[in-house]
Amino acid sequence: MTLGIVPYPVMVYLRLLVLGDVLIIIRCLVVQRRTRWCKTLPRKVNVFIWRVAFNRLPTRINISSRGMDIERIGCVLCLYQVESSSHILFLCEVAIEIWRRVRLWVDIQWLRFSDWSEWIVWFDDWHVTSDKKMRLFAIVAATTWILWKYRNTVLFASHMLKKQELFDSICMFSFNWVTDRGKLNISWSEWFSKPL
Ligand SMILES: [Zn+2]
Repeated sequence: MTLGIVPYPVMVYLRLLVLGDVLIIIRCLVVQRRTRWCKTLPRKVNVFIWRVAFNRLPTRINISSRGMDIERIGCVLCLYQVESSSHILFLCEVAIEIWRRVRLWVDIQWLRFSDWSEWIVWFDDWHVTSDKKMRLFAIVAATTWILWKYRNTVLFASHMLKKQELFDSICMFSFNWVTDRGKLNISWSEWFSKPL
């Protein structure tokens, strides 16, 4: 069972009343309830986040599981693990390195999340000002968004985004979102040195 998805009616889940499944069901329902539309983010990024939260990204494993013929299900970045959304956005070596840099940038000692649902549960229990929450949500959204764009760049050999540009792109996109849509009054240099 994939975390972060609610693909079946609750009654179907009730047939799976073993402890592990019950815990996962509760978690899925919590994630469903907490998936939100963020006004700070552009519409296409909100749609992207929704697809991440409900495992609807067209990853290779998702395409394959829908019965479509696909030559490979391996990650296009590391060529090692199966390409799922949790792998490409959180667990791939490329993602791990980017998250390490983001952690240093935002200066928060947080857990290493393995998927979107873990992150969002942590985020909702993070008790800070709404301004700070808006900033961090934009940064995490930008990180996943850029990682997915990079995956597509490699997959389709478009050369639109280079690996060494990923972190700077995350800083730039999140800055544009919080200052434009989020109406945050902060300079680029302030954002780059202390985003939270
Ligand atoms: Zn990988």
